[in-house]
Amino acid sequence: MYKALNSKNEPFSDELGGNKKSEPPYQKKFAVVNPCRMCQPMGAVQALLGIEGAMPLIHGSQGCSTYMRFQLCRHFREPVNVSSTSLSEGTVVYGGEENLIKALETIKIQYNPTLIGVTSSCLTETIGDDVEGIIKKFRESYLKNHGEKFPPVVSISTPSYSGSHVEGYDKTIVSLLENLTLPPESEHDPDMINLIPGNLSPADVEEIKELIKLMEINGIIFTDNSESLNAPLTGSVEFLPSRGITLDEIRQAANSKITLTLSQHASSGGKLLNKRFGVPHAILPLPIGLENTDKFIETLSSLNYVENIPPTLERDRGRLLDGMVDSQAYTHEQRLAIYGDPDLVTGLVSFVVELGMEPSIIATGTKSNQFQEDIKKITAKTSYDPVVINGGDLYDLHQQVKKTGADLLMGNSYGGRIAVAEDIPLVRVGFPIFDRVGAQRICILGYKGGLSLLDQLTNTIIQYYYDEAGYEL
Ligand code: SF4
Repeated sequence: MYKALNSKNEPFSDELGGNKKSEPPYQKKFAVVNPCRMCQPMGAVQALLGIEGAMPLIHGSQGCSTYMRFQLCRHFREPVNVSSTSLSEGTVVYGGEENLIKALETIKIQYNPTLIGVTSSCLTETIGDDVEGIIKKFRESYLKNHGEKFPPVVSISTPSYSGSHVEGYDKTIVSLLENLTLPPESEHDPDMINLIPGNLSPADVEEIKELIKLMEINGIIFTDNSESLNAPLTGSVEFLPSRGITLDEIRQAANSKITLTLSQHASSGGKLLNKRFGVPHAILPLPIGLENTDKFIETLSSLNYVENIPPTLERDRGRLLDGMVDSQAYTHEQRLAIYGDPDLVTGLVSFVVELGMEPSIIATGTKSNQFQEDIKKITAKTSYDPVVINGGDLYDLHQQVKKTGADLLMGNSYGGRIAVAEDIPLVRVGFPIFDRVGAQRICILGYKGGLSLLDQLTNTIIQYYYDEAGYEL
C-alpha cells in the first residue's frame, strides 16, 4: 500500500478526493487509479531488447506479451517481437512446463536467437512454476537428443505485484551477469568500463556512448538499445535486435576496470560484479542538467586520467549555460509537477532547480526511500517545500495538481488527461510517449540533451503563457 508523503516524510493527502465535511473522502487506499508505473516484465523486456539477437519470452498468458508489444511499438515506432508461452486455463491448473518447453523449441527453430530471456508473469509466479528448473532440465535433454547445446537461456523472476518495470530491468541485468559473465582473465582491462544506464531512450543511450567515446573510454552498455529501438528504414524487417550489447561483451564484463551505474534503482548488477569478481562499482546520478553531467564527465576523466576536457564538451557545456541564461526570464519560478521513474524524476528535479524553477509536486509510482532522500537533498538547497508522492498514482498527482496548482506538467503521455483537465501544458519525457512521434529520439542527457530539454520547456512556456495571452510577436 502506498502512502503519499511530503518532503518531511509526512502523509499529505488525507482529504484526497473528498469534499471535506459534506462527503467522506474517496477511499482509494486499497486501489490504484491510473498507475504511474509499468509492470515488472516490461522493464525486463526493454533490457533484453538492447542485446544483439536476443528474444524475450514471457512465461504467461498471451495478453501480457500483447500488452508489452503494444506499449513498446507505439512508443518506439519499431516492430518489436515479444514471444509468449501462451498459458490457458488448463496450464494454470497443471503447470506451464510443457508450454515453456514448446516455446523454447519453436523460438530456436524460427528465429535461432543468440539468447532467450524468459521472464515470468503474475500468473506463473502465482501458480509457482519452477522456471529455472524447467529450463535446466530442458537444456540437458536437448544436448542429449541433439548433440549440441541449446542457445543460452536466462530466467528472470518478475511478478508484477511485487515491483515495477524499474525492478524488472534491474533483475534482468543481474540475471545476465549471474548466468553469463565469466571470471576475469587476468588484470582488469584499463580501457574498458561497464555502464549500467537504467531504462533510457535510445537517443539517451547514444548520447552516453558519445560522451564515453569523447573521453576516450570503451564501454559495455547494459543494455544498448540505441540502434535496435531506433533503427533506420532499410526495407527489411528484423525479427530480433540486430544491434546491441553482444553475448561476448556480457561474458567479458568482469574484465572491466569499473562498473558505473547511472541509477540508484538499477545498481544490483554492479554490486554483483563487485562481490563476485571484485570489479569496483560506483553509482552516479543520471547526467541530466549541468551539475549531474559535470559529475559524470569528472568521473570519466578521473578514470582515464584525462586532464583536459575535450573542446567539444567544453563547447557543449558553454552552450547549455548560455541557453540557461537566455531562458531564465521565462523559466524562473515556474511551478512544475514532475512524475515518472525515480531516477528520471530525481535528475529532472535537479535540473529544473538549476533553472530556478519550482518543482512543486514530485511523484513516482515506484516507492523508494532512496528517492525520498534524494529529493530531500536536492530541494534542501531551495526555499521550496514540494509535495513528494512516493509510490503513488496519477490520481494522487491529479488531486495534488488541483490542490496546489502547477504551471507545467512533466512526464509521460499518461499525464495528458490531467493537462487537459487542468488546462496546463505537458512536456513529454519518459516512457511511454504514444501521443507524439519521435519518443525514441528524445534526448535529455548530457549537455546537449539538457539544452534540447531546456528549449522544449521554455518554448512550451512561451507558447502557452505568452502566445496564448496575446503576446505581440
Ligand atoms: S501486470 Fe502481470 S498480468 Fe498484467 S501484463 Fe504485467 S505480468 Fe501480465
